[in-house]
Amino acid sequence: MLRTQGRMLGGVGRLHVIAGCMSSGKTGELIRLLSRHAVTGDTMVLYKHSVDSRDGDKARSRLGTEMEACVVGRPEDIVGDGFVVVAIEEAQFFGEGLTAVVQDLLSSGHLVYVTGLNQDFRGEPFGVMPTLMSLADEISLLTAICQKCHGVGTRTQRIIDGQPAPWDSPLILVGGADYYEARCPDCHEVPGRP
Ligand SMILES: [Zn+2]
Repeated sequence: MLRTQGRMLGGVGRLHVIAGCMSSGKTGELIRLLSRHAVTGDTMVLYKHSVDSRDGDKARSRLGTEMEACVVGRPEDIVGDGFVVVAIEEAQFFGEGLTAVVQDLLSSGHLVYVTGLNQDFRGEPFGVMPTLMSLADEISLLTAICQKCHGVGTRTQRIIDGQPAPWDSPLILVGGADYYEARCPDCHEVPGRP
C-alpha cells in the first residue's frame, strides 16, 4: 500500500466519467471535482492529450478556472505512481489502449476522473468513451446551450468553411479549418448521413 498524505491507496479505485458535447463545461466540472480533493490533501495529477494544443500545459475552463496538466501522446504515458487522484482530459483522443490503463489505475486503488465527448460530430459513440462510461462508478452527463436555438445542447456540430461537415469527413481534425459548436438534436446537421 502506498500512503500519500491523507488517503491510503488500497482496495479498488473509483472511476468518475464526465461526458458531454462541446461547450458543456466538462473541464470546469473536472476542476470543481478535483478541488474537493485539494481540501483533503489527496495528491493528484491531470493528463491531457498532445493533440489538444489549446492552453498549452494547462486545462482551462470557460469560467477561468485552470489546472496544470501533463501533456502526453499515448495512453501508456499515463502513470499514477505517487498520486491518489488521476485525471484524464479529452479521453476520446486516446486510443482503445486507454481502457487497460484506466483499469490498471483502478486495480491499484486510484481515484480516476475522465472527461470526454461521448458522441462524435456525427452523433455516434466516440472512441473509448462508451467503454469507459460502462466501467464507471459515477457518470456526469453534461449539456450545453444550443448555439442555434438556445435549447438543450447534447450534440457537437462540426462546421467546415461555414458549412455543416459531411458524414464522411475525418473524425479528429484539431487545429484545422473546422470548428465546433453545441447543438440540440433538432439543430444538429450531418449532410450525407447514411
Ligand atoms: Zn437547437
